[in-house]
Amino acid sequence: MDKPFESFGSMVFGEKEMADRLPRPIYQSWKKTVANESTLDRSTADAIAHAMKLWAMERGATHFTHWFQPMTGGTAEKHDSFLEPNAEGEPLARFSGKMLIKGEPDASSFPSGGLRATFEARGYTYWDVTSPVFIRDNVLCVPTVFVSYNGEALDRKEPLLKSIAALSKAATRVVNLFGDKEVKSCNISVGLEQEYFLIDRKYYNERLDLKLCGRTLFGTPATKGQELDDHYFGSIPSRVSSFMKEVNEELWKLGIYAKTEHNEVAPGQFELAPVFSEGNVAVDQNQLTMDILKKTARKHGLACLLHEKPFAGINGSGKHNNYSIVTDNGQNLFSPGDKPAENIRFLTFICAFIKAVDTYPVLLRMSASSTGNDHRLGANEAPPAIISIYLGSYIESILYNLYQNKENTVGKVENKNDFNPVSGLSYIPHDNTDRNRTSPVAFTGNKFEFRMLGSSMSASFSNTVLNAIMAEALNEIADQLEGIKYLQDVREKALDICRNLIHEHKRILFSGDGYSSEWVKEANRRGLPNVKSYIESTQILSDPSVVNLFTSLDIYTATELNANRKIMEDLYVKTMDIEIRTLREMVRKDILPAMVQEYRSYEEASFKKQVRFIQKRKEQLAELVDQTYEGLEKLDELWKEANKEKDDFQCGKKYYYSVSPQMELLRSYIDRYEEISSRHYYALPLYEDMLFGL
Ligand code: ADP
Ligand code: MG
Repeated sequence: MDKPFESFGSMVFGEKEMADRLPRPIYQSWKKTVANESTLDRSTADAIAHAMKLWAMERGATHFTHWFQPMTGGTAEKHDSFLEPNAEGEPLARFSGKMLIKGEPDASSFPSGGLRATFEARGYTYWDVTSPVFIRDNVLCVPTVFVSYNGEALDRKEPLLKSIAALSKAATRVVNLFGDKEVKSCNISVGLEQEYFLIDRKYYNERLDLKLCGRTLFGTPATKGQELDDHYFGSIPSRVSSFMKEVNEELWKLGIYAKTEHNEVAPGQFELAPVFSEGNVAVDQNQLTMDILKKTARKHGLACLLHEKPFAGINGSGKHNNYSIVTDNGQNLFSPGDKPAENIRFLTFICAFIKAVDTYPVLLRMSASSTGNDHRLGANEAPPAIISIYLGSYIESILYNLYQNKENTVGKVENKNDFNPVSGLSYIPHDNTDRNRTSPVAFTGNKFEFRMLGSSMSASFSNTVLNAIMAEALNEIADQLEGIKYLQDVREKALDICRNLIHEHKRILFSGDGYSSEWVKEANRRGLPNVKSYIESTQILSDPSVVNLFTSLDIYTATELNANRKIMEDLYVKTMDIEIRTLREMVRKDILPAMVQEYRSYEEASFKKQVRFIQKRKEQLAELVDQTYEGLEKLDELWKEANKEKDDFQCGKKYYYSVSPQMELLRSYIDRYEEISSRHYYALPLYEDMLFGL
């Protein structure tokens, strides 16, 4: 393409397109709906749908779909053609307001965690007016929420939208109390950095574990690993750059500002970061991005691995969630700003964040967890499963000074000395964050970067949690500030509140090495939770404080939370089940026969004299065959034992604590075999093939 940016947004029916194509009153009434001031009436919806249809058909679309995010974390769609016969039986392209606004997918094929009784299996999708419709592969996609017949959320989007509304209300309260009455609402800005691996598709096809589980279940580290760090920011292989070029073009067409792309730390690993956008849109766009990465890779003879840990011993992949709160007139509330008054507001928002995270660390950890992410979180790799916040020494010292000096208020210290923590904020260079890559939550200039999220996961739930816990903290602050008459007193009070919050929650601040064993001990001393596994973390959804948090903010009902927990547990058990089955199958079909064949080849090799090497190999192979076979039998036994548990949570815990370690033990035999095997017999692609074969 000669002019790559020319087609930017060409496949999105965005705001500009709306303004151009809709009659003014229709456009305005859509705007009002987006601003939550009114609901769409039938004729407006019809007019919008009509314009959309024409726009889509001009671009070759033949079908439409309600695109939604079921609780499993992916996206789902069911295509319907625009085409219908008219009264005379002639073909007519039809897309009505009703078809735009409401759909009825077959809800029974999506998990509901018991929300849908079988007698009322119906579920409905409703257009999410805040996220633009777009075209992919000749299908007009309408982003929607998915709810049950009784109005319970069956997806991850409706709660996200509700959490944004709750946060907006709370943040606006606080902003208004600080004297800025102009602000009517707030939103979140989210930038999602996406990490992924690329390997040659040939290797992908040859490994059942990659195809079925998304990760290698065994394999020894390549002869050359990431120790030279020469991949990071190294030059991008040409095959990969042509893949990236196409990914970018696809993203740009969908109005996604793909911005940075570079090699990651591990060989074969890459990152793509778009420019941040409104949270809800950012989450949708990330779902699209993952889909585009996978499909484009296939076209280029590559496989894109989004799994959190495709290769043991090599860095895993995450999805860094950059999060900030912005007012409707564009002020970033995590931006230090340049006026002292704003600085107090900034400090208040930072302290609210610290409080929020320290109050709900397990919930936050849970929101970023998945079966795949268990191999990353808490597995001696970025980031640890213990939640802590890294503020950077500058902000930390500001808070510390504020906390130490009870008398220290903005007005008084302003001209006194050079080390003037509060007013000094105006000199914060935008990027003064001495980077600490081991921290799960890091303040990076004007946003918080939440690094725990797994690379394959939807960012929806994490942002729902961040919004909810922030909304609660801000509401509590607003309650204390409300009714104070003079602005100066509001500020004094706010500083007081901040001091108290720092006092109560400073245990969550940590700037050292998050991977070190000292930190695990120190965190324990501080009373910070260290939940080992995803399956155990799901329990938090039944915790009364969490139920109260979500219900009081009208984000989730207790029933919905329970349903979510059930779905997560069910998903964990199912995912583990697939891994176990795959491992058994590979051991039986590939590994054991290869070992035996190889043994026989040594047996048949006849030399005139005793050859030590052959003798040794035969011994090793014989031993490995036994160990592998016994390991497999033991795995079966533990697996069956776990499956006796009727309850997914109990079964899941057994999977984690007894089956999973046995899988690792079995793996160690296979890996030992790989080390001594001949390529002729061990025919599966090796780590070095996959990681260095681009
Ligand atoms: P790094 O890898 O150093 O963390 P990147 O540039 O790769 O940085 O990614 C930073 C991400 O944060 C980008 O997606 C960027 O758009 C996003 N971002 C920048 N400013 C904000 C903000 N105020 N709120 C939310 N996200 C932001
Ligand atoms: Mg980052």
